Amino acid sequence: MSNTQNITVLGSTGSIGVSTLDVIARHPERFRVVALTANSQVDKLFLQCQQFEPEFAVLLDADAAQSLQQKIRASGLATRVLHGVEALEQVSSLPQVDSVMAAIVGAAGLRPSMAAARAGKRILLANKETLVMSGSIFMDAVQDSGSELLPIDSEHNAIFQSLPRDFGRGLGQVGVTRILLTASGGPFRTKPLSALENITPDQACAHPNWSMGRKISVDSASMMNKGLEVIEAHWLFAASAEQIQVVVHPQSVIHSMVEYADGSVLAQLGNPDMRTPIAYALGFPERIAAGVSPLDLFKIARLDFQEPDMQRFRCLDLAYQALRQGGTAPAILNAANEVAVAAFLDERLPFLGIPSVIEHALEQISSVPVTRLEDVQQADQMAREIAIERIGRAGVGAFA
Ligand code: NAD
Ligand code: MG
Repeated sequence: MSNTQNITVLGSTGSIGVSTLDVIARHPERFRVVALTANSQVDKLFLQCQQFEPEFAVLLDADAAQSLQQKIRASGLATRVLHGVEALEQVSSLPQVDSVMAAIVGAAGLRPSMAAARAGKRILLANKETLVMSGSIFMDAVQDSGSELLPIDSEHNAIFQSLPRDFGRGLGQVGVTRILLTASGGPFRTKPLSALENITPDQACAHPNWSMGRKISVDSASMMNKGLEVIEAHWLFAASAEQIQVVVHPQSVIHSMVEYADGSVLAQLGNPDMRTPIAYALGFPERIAAGVSPLDLFKIARLDFQEPDMQRFRCLDLAYQALRQGGTAPAILNAANEVAVAAFLDERLPFLGIPSVIEHALEQISSVPVTRLEDVQQADQMAREIAIERIGRAGVGAFA
């Protein structure tokens, strides 16, 4: 890598994307933005283009791309505007790109992340769905191309920081006994179970510690986010389900821990601000400023820990089940969850209906081994159809 790191930011208008550009803007001498991408947010992407002057700007949506094109032309910028999934793959694998921040939300992030992996890029992976859906294929692609994979999810970034550099030899080989994956428990950790029936989308999105996109906020409230992260940790660190213990830690100051054979537990701590893991990955192996305020331990005063309640958080239990089942089960879990969360945000499904829809999809579709990306895409499609059908047929009342 030359002195300047050339970077593509996928999902630049989202929560992670904006934080990434915030860190990049603090180090103009280190980074050059080659491409910025978004789903359909023309105005936001245009402002980002003005600030970072990328070579490419990509929108998934063709009409949105056309209006961005007009704005770009009128402003005299040299940025080329592209659209569609192939364009997302293209800007993830351009020869002049060193690193790709993969921060698209949901299954839509899979193809561009995979393109970056196949092209041997350094991948800053925020899109956990890539690993949940197709962990084996993605990790093989990373291995085959010699890609460097740096986790952005705060927990996995903390685990990465707390592991020895040669953890790829196997956790047992490097003396690791368990991964302790911390979870805040979300906004409903202490609410009586009966009160969860009438939760609104805004209540679910009001996370006590982190400010995030709406989908991941709902996942945090249901603890599906932690379930997806257990599967993510399995692939990133070659850890079995038994080696991953979720620890509820409401303050979100410890971002996760690694337990060793000698009884040591190493942790990474910090204020809950995604710019810390983002800066760690952007600067790796150096440390660079992130704009995050120092941790004030006297103000925090105490740290609490609890075992997760699997009855309250059925989604977490379902994710462990899917991981143990293997094959396409995690992809089915993920797809059914995406459909259920969208329906919940749309007020077509009550909060407690989310795990019911996922359980139904896991029961209806048999998991098959994953050998090609098509296996995953097929499972994803089937799970979406079954989930949509289930939500449509039952109506809101049936899940209450
Ligand atoms: P977000 O909803 O705020 O942003 C998503 C980005 O993806 C936007 O730029 C959007 O335009 C783009 N996008 C959405 N749908 C798309 C599609 N179909 N095709 C192309 N682009 C599309 O999401 P976020 O909170 O920034 O999360 C991004 C990813 O990072 C997710 O996978 C999430 O699980 C993960 N993550 C987020 C956080 C966080 O704090 N926000 C923490 C850990 C991991
Ligand atoms: Mg996380």
